[in-house]
Amino acid sequence: MDDELVGAGAVVDGGLDRREAAERARLLEVGEYEVHLDLTRLADCPSFSSRTKVGFTCGEPGASTWIDLVAERVTNVELNGVALEGDAVVRPGRIRLGPLLAENTLLVCAEHSAGSGATAGRGLTRTVDPSDGRVYVWSQCEAFEARRIFACFDQPDLKATFHLTVAVPSEWICVSNGISRAPDRGADTWRFSRTPRLPTYVFAVCAGPFHQVEGRYQDIPIRLHSRQSLRGQLDRSAEEIISLTQRGLAHYEEQFAVPYAGDSYDYVFLPEFGGAMENFGCVCWTDEVIFRSEPSSLTRQMRATVLLHEMAHMWFGNLVTMRWWDGLWLNESFADWAAFSALATIIGEGESWASFLYRRKRGGYRADQAPTTHAVNGAVPDIDAAEASVDMITYAKGASVLRQLAATIGEEAFRAALRRYFTRNAWRNTELSDLLAEVHAVSGLDAASWARGWLERSGTDLLTVHTEHKRGTYTAVSVRHRTPSSPPLDHQVRIGVYDDTGSGHLALRQQLTLRVNGDGAELAELAGAPVASLLLPNDDDRDFVKMRVDQDSTASLAQPWRLPFVLPRAVALTTLEDMMVDAQLPASAVVDAACGCVDVEDSPAQLEQVVSLAYDAATIWTPPEKRAESLGRIADACLRRLDGPGHSRQLTQSLRYGFTRAAVRTDHLDHVATLLARDADDHALRWLCLQRLVGACWIGDEKLDSEATRDPDPDAPARASIVRSARGTAGAKDLGLKLMFREHLPCRTQREWLSDAFWQPLQGELLAPYVHAYLAQMRMLLTEERYDALYAAAVAFPLTVAADDCVEGLADLGSDTRVPARIRKMLLDRWDLLRRATRTHRLALAGDSDAPTTCGNQ
Ligand SMILES: [Zn+2]
Repeated sequence: MDDELVGAGAVVDGGLDRREAAERARLLEVGEYEVHLDLTRLADCPSFSSRTKVGFTCGEPGASTWIDLVAERVTNVELNGVALEGDAVVRPGRIRLGPLLAENTLLVCAEHSAGSGATAGRGLTRTVDPSDGRVYVWSQCEAFEARRIFACFDQPDLKATFHLTVAVPSEWICVSNGISRAPDRGADTWRFSRTPRLPTYVFAVCAGPFHQVEGRYQDIPIRLHSRQSLRGQLDRSAEEIISLTQRGLAHYEEQFAVPYAGDSYDYVFLPEFGGAMENFGCVCWTDEVIFRSEPSSLTRQMRATVLLHEMAHMWFGNLVTMRWWDGLWLNESFADWAAFSALATIIGEGESWASFLYRRKRGGYRADQAPTTHAVNGAVPDIDAAEASVDMITYAKGASVLRQLAATIGEEAFRAALRRYFTRNAWRNTELSDLLAEVHAVSGLDAASWARGWLERSGTDLLTVHTEHKRGTYTAVSVRHRTPSSPPLDHQVRIGVYDDTGSGHLALRQQLTLRVNGDGAELAELAGAPVASLLLPNDDDRDFVKMRVDQDSTASLAQPWRLPFVLPRAVALTTLEDMMVDAQLPASAVVDAACGCVDVEDSPAQLEQVVSLAYDAATIWTPPEKRAESLGRIADACLRRLDGPGHSRQLTQSLRYGFTRAAVRTDHLDHVATLLARDADDHALRWLCLQRLVGACWIGDEKLDSEATRDPDPDAPARASIVRSARGTAGAKDLGLKLMFREHLPCRTQREWLSDAFWQPLQGELLAPYVHAYLAQMRMLLTEERYDALYAAAVAFPLTVAADDCVEGLADLGSDTRVPARIRKMLLDRWDLLRRATRTHRLALAGDSDAPTTCGNQ
């Protein structure tokens, strides 16, 4: 209506802090948003419009507040039937409202612009499928982005119902939180059922000429959507996704004793989307998980874990929501714990928690030892801090600590506490104390003091085993405790006692549980017992703690493949890795230990995780001059197992992946070329082979072009450009760097591929000047305040090419206060990792005589 109302017409970005959000929540209670979105123009251009009518009450009539909105132009604002005056906008991103009545109705009409490329993922994004030119539109509202789609009180504790209508081009399908009714013939407006009371950050709307597959769970439709160019691939994936959704919903309904509250369960698989988002009844997810060819077991398992993680949020986050973003850790930790617990019912406890250790907890230990570490339950003063808090402390350490809590009070009691929590707090907002109150009620645990210890302090404790013995029997066994906390944390740690069977294996003699607090503890049960081959603390991995074994256990720890179970093997191998990170052990010892495990892991997913750990050790943690030899050992280990008897098709696939990544010698590369010639259907393997062969200058670019034509994946041409940057020539690297920094950056997965292809671990000399060029480009993005592009570039920071001056350049950039907190944190974490890796390189170069190669405490 009135351009004058908003000055120049644009309502631009602005932030939100905790204090003002609390004040607004104290004043208001929001009833319902009636939102109409007109997305019809998005078929041709990035413009769309919103019309929002919201009803809300005010506890102090006469007071003022504001509503959040980022738009190109506001065309109408009416509060209680009165058009607002020209000074309504008091600061960017806000429309001032007041004086308020006890009952209010607000109407806001606005014109918006959808993001794309580097600005994808904030509010509404418009993506064009490069393979056929079709347009798809999708939303991402977490943490503070719903305001880019319609006017709203954009904070988690102002929950409301949403009643949405959307106009789209007639050939499009529209998906949102509620169930939809397709428009009548000739009309173009989709009407969605009214949602329960939800926070704005899980609002969703997606539209486009989607391909759709439908299944059911009881009377709830489960609908899967993908772009048309992935039609065949979605059809092949659908059965597994639908079946897992049915199992997951049944599992959580039984565990939490509250039925799923939605009237539909939709998935929208999208290009350019990073990760997955738990929008209520409408999970948005990168379409990378619609596999282009038969996936490996690990890839399939990772997809299952994400599916179960997002589903757990339907209860934890959507049904019961955090009051403010300082509760985000609990949301994410809970979803991770729930997902791996649910996975355990499918693949078994040992394998599920070993995967948790490899893929999550390991990252949690690393993050907790970095200079950017923070308490799990830390202060989150504003939205920037909320975005920065999404890290491995939030996900992995938090989830580990919840698992530990469940073990301490018993799984059944923990489940009872959750059931009470969901029942009492349905559709409300809570704080950590609400959950702790239920834990206390069912178990009697002093949950507040437990939380003060485990959740409000940063840093990881270290437990060290010490033994004394005489004539083959223990005279004393103790566990010492080093802690950054005061008072010290309480550990209830299980210690596995393993004996040599005489045939090369270790057998479990017994498991002892020990309470360690502060000064340490004596393991009196072992006095007089025969000396074991290995005393392995935390062999069930329930404790979040670093550990070092006693001197007599070092040889067995270095040979984790001799252990009889998958979880203790993972604990031993990741302990060796932790020692490498602390520069107490050269990377070659970790490569050897992992290669030994390649011989014994029968689960293809575990094997792939072991090889991946070995690959990191052989590249990031090994000095450049020793990398080829270490990689060669990994490739040889995979080949040896491949040549051995009796392994499944999936194990063969995982071994081929591992072998191809590590292939370095001429005979290896010959074998990779054979795999490429022979394996016609495994496109993921074929791209891996091509990258390795291009990286070694073994084949020409024409092979990449022909692969892009034969792979039915619509993203195959983009993959070919990425793989081209692996070639060890200045021309290929120049093009690769341009790709990394060009305006329309590819999606996060593609950026990770590019980083992997470009920064080849054996091309250090060629790449050194490119690290400088890379840092210079990052500084330019900072000067130009292009933060989204800066974030995208930070993801691709090299970890395998680390000249000392580059490490310092990274530290400078990471300390620059102009850089948003979440990017600064990412840069400083990488800096810390490179600094540690340099220390471990020196250990390997110091020569065998100087290097401590023992695994035990000294
Ligand atoms: Zn999550």
